[in-house]
Amino acid sequence: MSRIADLNSDDFAALRQKTLNEYEAFRARGLKIDMTRGKPSPEQLALANGMLTLPGNGDHFSEAGEDARNYGNLQGLAEVRTLFASTLGTSPERIVVGDNSSLALMHDCLLWAWVKGVPGGAEPWQKTEAPAFICPVPGYDRHFSILEEYGIRMLPVPLKGDGPDMDMVEELAADPSVKGMWCVPKYSNPSGETYSDAVIERLAAMKTGAPDFRLFWDNAYAVHHLTETEHQIPDILDLCEKAGNPDRAFVFASTSKVTLAGAGLAFFASSPANVRWYLASASKRTIGPDKLNQLRHVRFLKNEDGIRRHMAAHRTLIAPKFDTVSNALEKRLTGTGVAEWSKPQGGYFICVDAMEGTAKHVVELAKQAGVTLTPAGSTSPYGKDPHDRTLRLAPTFPSLQEVELASQGIALCILLAALEKLHSTRNG
Ligand code: PMP
Repeated sequence: MSRIADLNSDDFAALRQKTLNEYEAFRARGLKIDMTRGKPSPEQLALANGMLTLPGNGDHFSEAGEDARNYGNLQGLAEVRTLFASTLGTSPERIVVGDNSSLALMHDCLLWAWVKGVPGGAEPWQKTEAPAFICPVPGYDRHFSILEEYGIRMLPVPLKGDGPDMDMVEELAADPSVKGMWCVPKYSNPSGETYSDAVIERLAAMKTGAPDFRLFWDNAYAVHHLTETEHQIPDILDLCEKAGNPDRAFVFASTSKVTLAGAGLAFFASSPANVRWYLASASKRTIGPDKLNQLRHVRFLKNEDGIRRHMAAHRTLIAPKFDTVSNALEKRLTGTGVAEWSKPQGGYFICVDAMEGTAKHVVELAKQAGVTLTPAGSTSPYGKDPHDRTLRLAPTFPSLQEVELASQGIALCILLAALEKLHSTRNG
């Protein structure tokens, strides 16, 4: 396919008509496919069915002899923290095991910082005049929603393929009202990119105007590889410590997309001072986490190799879905000059940059044809994409056959929206 912007008016009109016809035919199929959220499919959840009967009747003691049925052990069972230490890239004593949602832990940390402040801070964040967070874009909508909920300003910074634009980040972080930054350092949601070592080193070492600045380091996709290459990132806690900023990073992760999305384990990891701070706050909220679920995870996954094998089984199920989307986009859009898309090596999303000013239209066209996409704009703060071009595709939940149909339709919608936009420009 040649670049659409270069077509003469006859060829352009012919392509537009052909694409419209194809779209109508696609719409007439009356599909109903949901590609909105990064959810595991039923087949992926079934990989963890063995957990449903664990830890088993009578098996409720930890290695240290704690009764997992009872209250207590706010930090989480030692064997669980050991099991996930390498996933989190740090040592067991720096890890806290929460209940089933890392997003809840992020929310709690933000709220505690807001109400009470964090180690190294002179006052609660709410006392700061117009506090702000740096938000790499495209980003995760639920991160942005937490900030919006508490009226924290969002400062968008573009991602560049190997992490955020660090010159911009350093400039923004120098302002004392900038209290933190969201980071999804590996297989980012939704761009799929992994931060380079150089970017991570700069984040750990940069000067911040606020002494109590925090990186909210959401390593949600730490072990979620889509290829045989298991990309690794440096230990942010170690780098922060070496750079003289030991308390800078709050690390989060969970097994939502390892075992069960609704019944996994969530983790917080940080410096000793931050872990003490976290546990002191958490102790006012709960008498202890669900340790039976913790035991269940240890019994099921067993060791690091068990996690690796389990993730390989996920990969077998989902990598073909990512390939299918990629093939459909390539087939319809390569060379047209109207879209670019990510080829993620891990994580849960494919990110498409459609022609500027068309993303909302693409989502609407897809909806009319029975394919529901994440709303356009959701990857930007306040749900507003100033370029109206970024689309997030989440191919894990539907079946492979549905993903195939949906992605053919999505590619068609991207092309049609671009043609319609160019048509109106060409016709003044
Ligand atoms: N962080 C990121 C970057 C995510 O993509 C998701 C899930 N879509 C979450 C956090 C949610 O994690 P949890 O289920 O542990 O709350």
